[in-house]
Amino acid sequence: MSRGDHNRSDTSPTVHGRIRGADADGEPTTAHSPKLGLSRAEVLAWLREDDPARLDDLWRAADDTRRRFVGDGVHLRGLIEISNYCVRGCTYCGIRAPNHGVERYRMGEDEILACARQAHDFGYGTVVMQSGEDYGIETDWLARVIHSIKHDTALVVTLSLGERPEADLAAWRAAGADRYLLRFETSDADLYRRIHPDLPGRVSDRVAIIKRLQELGYEAGTGVMVGIPGQGHETLADDIELFRGMDMDMIGIGPYLPHPATPLGQLAAGAVSESGATATDQVPNTETMTCKVLALTRLVRPDANLPATTALATVNKSDGRVHGLQRGANVVMPNLTPPEYREKYEIYPDKAATHETVEATQQSISGLLAALGRSVATGPGGRRHSGH
Ligand code: SF4
Repeated sequence: MSRGDHNRSDTSPTVHGRIRGADADGEPTTAHSPKLGLSRAEVLAWLREDDPARLDDLWRAADDTRRRFVGDGVHLRGLIEISNYCVRGCTYCGIRAPNHGVERYRMGEDEILACARQAHDFGYGTVVMQSGEDYGIETDWLARVIHSIKHDTALVVTLSLGERPEADLAAWRAAGADRYLLRFETSDADLYRRIHPDLPGRVSDRVAIIKRLQELGYEAGTGVMVGIPGQGHETLADDIELFRGMDMDMIGIGPYLPHPATPLGQLAAGAVSESGATATDQVPNTETMTCKVLALTRLVRPDANLPATTALATVNKSDGRVHGLQRGANVVMPNLTPPEYREKYEIYPDKAATHETVEATQQSISGLLAALGRSVATGPGGRRHSGH
């Protein structure tokens, strides 16, 4: 029996027959097909579905919904990993503060502007500046960088810099930043705290920060990891419910990939229970499981921008990105970080495209989109409001 078969009863979804069952809350499931706006019980049943033929129906429904709501255009958002310093100690992440084996870097203003101009020249609509939670990135300095990017290019500026204080977020918004990405990683508060320990005296509440970002005028993005030790199917269904209720610009979904130089990375295979997992309902950190979450997210948030994440492209180097784009995704984030820094931003091992040049990445993504019959979307790529 595969892991996904555990706890299957008569709640499994079907395309042809009406299935009746009940989820953990006693809510009846009446899933006819993987349809737009499906219920939590149906989401849960699909998360547990492992029949490839049925999953083909899910992929098709997500792809049809993607085409109907956000079209065939794929938004390219140029990623610049501006610093690998981080004050946090997330127990799976390769650039966590206690990892002294990492050679740290922080990019200069000119280097960042050169990457932004490259994004502009490639015709991208957005540049994403990402880092660990690095207080060496000073508020005024970054405000100046944002201002320069906005002055020099027509790019939308997205930030992904961790849980910075509200005054920083407000200053960067005033300088012209448009979007902010902050993954809540998992809706299970205990599990979250286990993998993402609080800083002394500061309780991490990412959902509250996301709401505050929206109040500041940012378009906000979030996301989760799939297959965290201790994460069961019910938890993932809760994650998707949280997406349903959030007005997000972008939702990033990737497999959990612990770095070997971390406490969770060093847990021996099969030692899942040591980290608090319930072995019978543990979600696998596979490509298929990640794609299920991606496809179901497309069905509950049809107008969201969903990336085919680098982590998905890492777990299946040959087809992960293609599968993402065929199962609900409409965004790709080509990495524009200069090669000398890229390999130092190793949050998980063997990250896709780490040793590729920027030009090679650009070429391979263009070729991939052409082969899929998808176009490069133009313009800023904000979320279309469908009224759903
Ligand atoms: S996951 Fe993010 S916040 Fe946590 S250690 Fe890594 S870079 Fe820092």
